[in-house]
Amino acid sequence: MFYRIPKFNYYRASTLNEALDLVSSLNDFKVLAGGTDLVIDLKVRRYTVKNVVDISRIKELDYIADDGDRVRIGALTKLQSIADSPIIREKAPVLADAVREMASWQIRNVATIGGNLCNASPAADTAPPLYVLNATLRLVSKEGEREVPITEFFLGPRKTALRSRELLKEIVIPHEPDCGASFLKLGRRNSFTLSVVAVATLVKVDKNKFADVRIALNSVAPTPVRARKAEECLKGKEISLNNITEAAKLVLHDISPISDVRASAEYRKDMSVVLTRDSLIKSLERVGIKV
Ligand SMILES: Cc1cc2nc3c(=O)[nH]c(=O)nc-3n(C[C@H](O)[C@H](O)[C@H](O)COP(=O)(O)OP(=O)(O)OC[C@H]3O[C@@H](n4cnc5c(N)ncnc54)[C@H](O)[C@@H]3O)c2cc1C
Repeated sequence: MFYRIPKFNYYRASTLNEALDLVSSLNDFKVLAGGTDLVIDLKVRRYTVKNVVDISRIKELDYIADDGDRVRIGALTKLQSIADSPIIREKAPVLADAVREMASWQIRNVATIGGNLCNASPAADTAPPLYVLNATLRLVSKEGEREVPITEFFLGPRKTALRSRELLKEIVIPHEPDCGASFLKLGRRNSFTLSVVAVATLVKVDKNKFADVRIALNSVAPTPVRARKAEECLKGKEISLNNITEAAKLVLHDISPISDVRASAEYRKDMSVVLTRDSLIKSLERVGIKV
């Protein structure tokens, strides 16, 4: 364990174009947004890089825009801005719920949503809500832009689909009215803690049946995951506590937790089932259905 930050060349970009020029001309670099993950990672030598490109002052990547049929969030938007945003509370409340449970007020005022995703921790708390919201990520480089569904972004712990000279530009969330969604997080404390497991669910209901179900979990696999088997089991079924309880057990097919300092694999498995059931019940409550 080392705590002195190693020497590196520091570059600060004021615009997206400046940042893209820098990352296309430098080798051996990391970009710095809020720095709440990166600075620690540099200190403990998880990464050793010659160059750091500070993108934190690029104002054009700090926004929450409501386009009617979708919401766009700039990669450098602070977590606290998301928690406070009337647009997010109205159009994607499950994301606001998740962000409110992250870190502390001080960290949330520095940390960005883009940093949470690009850091690619299996415990990233913005991932499960964005998975169930079917978000896509817009990635940008000097060569142009491309969109990647969030479910294809995470490749492993600290590994993403970002190419070496690409930046995350924005997160796009399609607006889906008439659905209920919720986020439940279990940590070792009630607050200011990383997830032992967190679950987001989203439901659409038609005549007392599940018309659509989405379930996503973090901290129980090398990347955040969708629990497809449990989702498929519920689609088209009657809404009942028994159906929900049986489907929740199927999340075990899509997770592969490990034991670590926060919890054992067995406990994570048990809690994944419990939280999935409870989150589905809460999501139904949000469309006015009590089971
Ligand atoms: C005390 C504490 C508590 C925490 N609690 C939580 C918690 O409860 N839940 C949780 O999920 N996380 C938590 N975190 C982790 C961290 O705060 C979040 O992951 C945060 O959102 C990271 O954002 P950042 O802007 O600080 O990223 P940075 O540290 O600046 O960057 C993180 C990584 O992403 C890359 N990156 C950043 N932005 C971009 C971009 N636009 N394009 C390409 N690459 C980019 C960087 O190069 C780096 O590799 C906590 C951290 C601390 C220190």
